[in-house]
Amino acid sequence: MALIVQKYGGTSVGTVEKIEGVAQKVIATVEQGNQVIVVVSAMSGETNRLIELAKQIDDCPAPREYDVLVSTGEQVTIALLSMAIMKFGHKAKSYTGAQVNIRTDNAYSKARIIDIDEARVRADLEAGNIIVVAGFQGMDEQGNITTLGRGGSDTTAVAMAAALKAEECQIYTDVDGVYTTDPRVVPNARRLEKITFEEMLEMASLGSKVLQIRAVEFAGKYGVPLRVLHSTEDGPGTLISYDNEGETMEDAVISGIAFNRDEAELTITGVPDQPGIAYQILGPIGEANVEVDMIIQNVGADGCTDFTFTVHRTDYQKALEILEKTSQKLGAREVSGDATIVKISLVGVGMRSHAGIASTMFKTLADDSINIRMISTSEIKISVVVDEKYTELAVRALHKAFDLEEKPAA
Ligand code: ASP
Ligand code: MG
Repeated sequence: MALIVQKYGGTSVGTVEKIEGVAQKVIATVEQGNQVIVVVSAMSGETNRLIELAKQIDDCPAPREYDVLVSTGEQVTIALLSMAIMKFGHKAKSYTGAQVNIRTDNAYSKARIIDIDEARVRADLEAGNIIVVAGFQGMDEQGNITTLGRGGSDTTAVAMAAALKAEECQIYTDVDGVYTTDPRVVPNARRLEKITFEEMLEMASLGSKVLQIRAVEFAGKYGVPLRVLHSTEDGPGTLISYDNEGETMEDAVISGIAFNRDEAELTITGVPDQPGIAYQILGPIGEANVEVDMIIQNVGADGCTDFTFTVHRTDYQKALEILEKTSQKLGAREVSGDATIVKISLVGVGMRSHAGIASTMFKTLADDSINIRMISTSEIKISVVVDEKYTELAVRALHKAFDLEEKPAA
């Protein structure tokens, strides 16, 4: 008998009817001879509603109380789903994160899971129950309720699968798998049968929103086989695999194109080209807890150099103010910035063994007269920053150039 962990997100449990639909899917899996643990999110919109309530009282509510509040959405769905499963004639038992002993650190709103005590769940499973667990939450050493960060139910599911050594962790969502790129931008984007864990990690961190990045990291660390599937349509979904890294999936060099509009670009020109300058510019940015992503320093000329870097768009104003101050201190020529950029990335383990990917990418963008502002590369990805208004044009052109579209059945 195999143990399967299934996770259903907010839209999949958005109404009572949908919750009953989920109950039936879970039961079908049990009737195929499996044991099932189901992890659920709050009903769609509920977590946002709770956050909004808190904000009406205080813009910066006490972190402990904030977590007590936002964790309640999931408690509603576990109870409703358990009731639905019982109505259809099966045994079910719901658990909040604390009840299932998901122990976390004390970092409210972004807690990390330390340990899960799976004994109780195991016993309930053996007694023939379907276990329904609230996603997104846990409990610290002192018994305080904590939450795992937005989208954290994915992480709960992966952690449960790791702790109980489940055969597979299935993430049910409103798309039927991981696509070569966002189908809203490229309608003939293709569902991938498989994607390597490394590629999925890149896709998630570069802006693909199918899976929470922490969940992917967690799955990688414990080797949990992960599958993304549609919550109402039948289909195989996409398997995130741990196959031999050298072997490319589906013989494609590129697996996908991710893009991220959440970044902003800042430039400081005419700074002295001397040791310690990068530190003087980026040090204060880091101290203000602003994460820097891409960084470019020009070759110096006449004792001066220029710096460009990107930050999260929500940190743009803060970073700009800090940079202005640094500029005065260093006697720089100018500070400028742009919050309307997009980072577009090609991802594929096949890049390791293929030359010419970057030049094809650059030529494709040039043919559409799209100016590249920054470039960064790693072993399995190439990212460029371009003007945000070119997002659709660039992603479509690249998708075509790398032959990623859905092909009519042969
Ligand atoms: N309900 C939480 C959120 O909206 C967690 C989740 O959905 O995974 O972020
Ligand atoms: Mg969610």
